[in-house]
Amino acid sequence: MTDKTDVLIVGAGPTGLTLAVELARRGIAHRVVERAAAPSAGSKGKGLQPRTLEIFDDLGIVDRVLAGTTPYPPIRVRIGRLPVYQGRMHRPAAASEQVPYPTVRMHPQWRTEALLRERLAELGGAVEHGAELTGFEQDADGVTARLGTGTTLRARYLVAADGGRSTVRKALGIGFTGQTREEERMVLGDVRVEGLDREHIHAWVRPGRGMVALYPMAGTDAFQFMAPLRPGATPDLTLAGFQRLFAERSMLRAARVTELLWSSLYRVNIRLADAYRAGRVLLAGDAAHVHSPAGGQGLNTGVQDAYNLGWKLARALTGGPASLLDTYEEERRPVAARVLGLSTDLHDRKSYKRDEETYQLRVGYRGGSLARAGGERMPDGPLRLADGSRARLFDLLRGPHFTLLSPDPVHRVPGGPQVRAYAPAEPYGGARHTLVRPDGHVGIATDSAAELAHYLTLV
Ligand SMILES: Cc1cc2nc3c(=O)[nH]c(=O)nc-3n(C[C@H](O)[C@H](O)[C@H](O)COP(=O)(O)OP(=O)(O)OC[C@H]3O[C@@H](n4cnc5c(N)ncnc54)[C@H](O)[C@@H]3O)c2cc1C
Repeated sequence: MTDKTDVLIVGAGPTGLTLAVELARRGIAHRVVERAAAPSAGSKGKGLQPRTLEIFDDLGIVDRVLAGTTPYPPIRVRIGRLPVYQGRMHRPAAASEQVPYPTVRMHPQWRTEALLRERLAELGGAVEHGAELTGFEQDADGVTARLGTGTTLRARYLVAADGGRSTVRKALGIGFTGQTREEERMVLGDVRVEGLDREHIHAWVRPGRGMVALYPMAGTDAFQFMAPLRPGATPDLTLAGFQRLFAERSMLRAARVTELLWSSLYRVNIRLADAYRAGRVLLAGDAAHVHSPAGGQGLNTGVQDAYNLGWKLARALTGGPASLLDTYEEERRPVAARVLGLSTDLHDRKSYKRDEETYQLRVGYRGGSLARAGGERMPDGPLRLADGSRARLFDLLRGPHFTLLSPDPVHRVPGGPQVRAYAPAEPYGGARHTLVRPDGHVGIATDSAAELAHYLTLV
């Protein structure tokens, strides 16, 4: 028997889970299939960027996320006991009316995923673990997918959120252009350590041997351990291997690794998918782009892919124009190309400093077919409405709808998107009509009612 659904999401990492939450809150039928038998461990993508926190605000999990995070503590770099650098990777910033979450927060990836799964469950969804996608075919109406469990599934769309080694991308023959730096490998793990304070990120550089860095993972008693391997060295992912690397590079006797909770060997790949869409199949997250972890962009870029794609898929499935789905690649692939450039630059400079470029608040889609006059992220801010009440913009935007700020009544487009309209006391941002998309980007800001009406036919 063949099961049926609207969207089949392959992979339950941060990208697949964000997309599932986006679809679940719009009531779109979907399935999330995940090869692994259980949720993954590992602190991997530990930096949550300010823009991701805004998205988590919209998805209803930001308070839970913030409760388990801290800003990045100062980093202390030493050669043995000799301090060589102390500073902050991220400049601390105070929240403003426009940017309520100004600081990068440290949050282990396993916990980000756990909170997304919890949110999905609240919305009635679930991940099917131990369900590997083994093959699929597509035709004009949908995709037929086979799972390792023996189940066959028919979906109207398939989204590959199946990570850098994406089975789906390979099966489609979509190129993954870029480079693998075979010689740049890194031992990565979550460890418990005796004798180290948790108020700093600790790094040691031993000339001729290499470096080791330990990040105290917020909300846990573990550290994330990172140590580049020397070319030709054989990785040892056992506790003894981590202990050896730590002792050799830190030259410390007073501290030692006591427990290994999770480990992995990481190879630097810098690659971008040649296309994000093939018919009814779309790629998102690491399946579409991989790069150095420097700058903490990977998880965040995947979350934003899903946030861009979710509302478009939902519209395409509920009477919106199918062409909307082409704007996903148009908007998101150039963003990933820029992220590859930025993270490679930070990686090659071995810089500890981060700045606003990595916060993802400036990501915009200006000039694209859905953002000819707009495209920027709509900042938060106070607003006075024509009825005299006061509002906060993010409160108006929260939810799956479009938001219109206009003194005029909305002209409903038959079959058009859900629009919530508010009349500001004064034109907001200089235009008479400002329409904000469900992903918080300005769709159009115009004085012309005709232009606004036309825009609503595109979405
Ligand atoms: C050392 C390191 C540090 C990092 N630091 C950061 C950071 O600070 N900030 C940041 O933003 N990012 C960071 N990242 C990157 C981040 O971990 C990834 O970008 C992120 O996990 C990508 O999410 P994803 O959901 O797209 O893919 P993944 O997390 O890879 O999830 C893909 C899922 O698909 C499943 N799957 C694969 N094939 C199939 C199949 N055929 N059928 C069913 N399921 C399948 C897999 O089991 C997996 O669960 C780091 C990564 C590493 C390795």
